[in-house]
This record gives sequence, structure tokens and C-alpha cells, in this order.
Amino acid sequence: STQFLINNLKATIEGKEILKGINLEIKGGEIHAIMGPNGTGKSTLASALMGHPKYEVTDGEVFINGEDLLEMEVDERARAGLFLAMQYPSEIAGVTNSDFLRSAINARREEGNEISLIKFIRQMESKMKELDMNPEFAHRYLNEGFSGGEKKRNEILQMLLLDPKLVILDEIDSGLDIDALKIVAAGVNSMRSEDRGFLIITHYQRLLNYITPDFVHVMMQGRIVKSGGPELAERLENEGYDWVKEELGITD
Ligand code: ADP
Ligand code: MG
Ligand code: MG
Repeated sequence: STQFLINNLKATIEGKEILKGINLEIKGGEIHAIMGPNGTGKSTLASALMGHPKYEVTDGEVFINGEDLLEMEVDERARAGLFLAMQYPSEIAGVTNSDFLRSAINARREEGNEISLIKFIRQMESKMKELDMNPEFAHRYLNEGFSGGEKKRNEILQMLLLDPKLVILDEIDSGLDIDALKIVAAGVNSMRSEDRGFLIITHYQRLLNYITPDFVHVMMQGRIVKSGGPELAERLENEGYDWVKEELGITD
């Protein structure tokens, strides 16, 4: 089963240290949530794991199924099963959603074993239906003119089609109304399996009413400062983050 291991990960942006030693272990079947105030490095963690060139990893190790993730190029990380639904998905003019999805699927497959067009279309249409997406979105340019909620659904569509081993969702709940949130959560829950792990980054506890995490971690100032179960998310929702700061003697 999948195992994802982050050991003392440190990363900088433009020379400024943002991640100050992250430790996390995610086993197959587990859902971990990371919560934390704005600007604490949650998206930086997601981007550094995906290999975004803007973020320089300065220390630490990351393993996916025993393989050294930090040694891999971005496309190799995707092929190893890492998937990130971004907080701010980018628009790509001139590439349709369905072209993008099919090449993303094929990039993860061996040469000569590409998915057939018919099979791809059948899969895409059935997943779009699950997500209550307008079929027309298949032919629109990637994310161009999509509303916030449509972009988030589109990220989940990618997740459903790519069958990743380790899923990172960065604020997938932002910009979603309650109906869209339930649909997105159902998509995630349908993907729960023993050979897949999830890291769900969220500012609000709301999403965790629909996706029950096994572990909740609080991130502050570039570190995971507290870990617990779902009850920790509820306390954060009710009481905010100040009590954690007080407990840890953090001033800012
Ligand atoms: P979070 O996702 O927890 O809100 P981020 O990881 O987005 O936090 O940001 C952490 C810190 O890094 C913030 O101080 C932010 O201003 C800074 N930061 C993030 N991305 C960039 C960037 N591309 N260039 C410069 N600073 C950045
Ligand atoms: Mg933020
Ligand atoms: Mg963020």
C-alpha cells in the first residue's frame, strides 16, 4: 500500500525560508488534513512537493513508496502517482479541457499503452456526470473563463480520471457553494482506498463535515505545531487559532 513520508522538509521562496522542517507520514487509506492561518506555508508545502521551480527545497527528504521524490522531475512525480489540485488553477488558452486530460492520462502510461479516444471520452463523460458538470466543459479551453467553483470541480475531474496514489487538495473548498461542496466531497470519498492517501489543505472546517479525516494537523509559521483527530478541526472552527498560539507561546 502507498506510503508517503516527509522528513524535516525545508523550503525557501526567493531566499526566504517558508517551510521550517515539516514532518508527516501518510499511509495508504488515510486522509490527513492540514489547517492553519493564511500565510503559514500550506500552499508552499503543496507546491514544493510537486516540484514547482519557484520553491527551493533546502533540506529534508520525501519518499513516495520508497522512492526519493525530491530527485524526480515534475512529470516523474506525476507518474509516481502524486496529484495536486491547486488553490489557484491556471488557465491555458488554446488547450481544451479534454485534450489536456487525455494527454495527462497518457503521460502517466507506458508508450504503446495509451488510452483509446473512445474509452477516454466514455470515462470523462461519466465522471463529469458524477460531478454534475455541463458536458460543454470538455471542449472549453482549460479553466478559461471558468468560475471559481467550476475550476475546483475541474480539478476534481482530473483527480478522478488520473487515479493518483497521493492526492493533495489545496483549499478545494474555497469558492464552492454547499451543493458543489457536497459533490466534490462525494468525488473524494469515492476515491478512498487502501492504496491511496490524501492530504487535504483547508482553512475552514466546513469541508471536513463531508470528508472525515483520520488526522488533523495545524500548521503555523512553516511548521506542523499540533496534530490530532477530527475533534481538533472542530475546536479550531469554534475557537479559532489563538488558543494554539497561546499554548505554544507563539506571538505575531
Ligand atoms: P498559505 O497557503 O498557508 O496561505 P503560502 O504558502 O501561500 O501560505 O504562503 C506562505 C508565505 O510565503 C507567505 O508569507 C507568502 O507571502 C509567501 N509566498 C508564497 N508564495 C510566494 C511567491 N510566489 N513569492 C513570494 N512569496 C511567496
Ligand atoms: Mg492562503
Ligand atoms: Mg494557500
